[in-house]
Amino acid sequence: MAEIIEGGCRCGRVRYRVAAETLPNVYACHCLDCQKQTGGAFAINALIEADRVHVLAGEPEGISMPTESGKPHIIYRCPDCKIALWSIYGGRQQVRFIRVSTLDQPHAIKPDVHIFTRSKVPWVQLPADTRAFDVYYDTKKEWPSESLARRQAASAKG
Ligand SMILES: [Zn+2]
Ligand SMILES: [Zn+2]
Repeated sequence: MAEIIEGGCRCGRVRYRVAAETLPNVYACHCLDCQKQTGGAFAINALIEADRVHVLAGEPEGISMPTESGKPHIIYRCPDCKIALWSIYGGRQQVRFIRVSTLDQPHAIKPDVHIFTRSKVPWVQLPADTRAFDVYYDTKKEWPSESLARRQAASAKG
């Protein structure tokens, strides 16, 4: 994935660029919140350091979502078409969870893991070699060391 990664909302007001050769972690979340928020069977998110996301046009607006855990979840949306572009969880401004479906080449990216499969819709069949977890998972065990190093560096800044 050496090409420039860009994305945007549906109406075109918000455009963004991700300055990264690789995305350290991409996951599909099958939790009920993601199903409700996307209107689909799961959401695909890519974690990326916030300082690698450059907004090229428009100003995404942050909307606070209710969560089961009580920890803050802010979804950043286009002010016009309201498409969700990325999320910030738990107030951790240094990491963004980009909605892969808003990238210009969304099919170029495949999830590394599937989480919250306890609420996966029954007709979605994951391939046998898929790394899937009932709820969440131990990132220290599952992430490649390069991704962990990048996340640590990002956390140190926040
Ligand atoms: Zn828009
Ligand atoms: Zn979810």
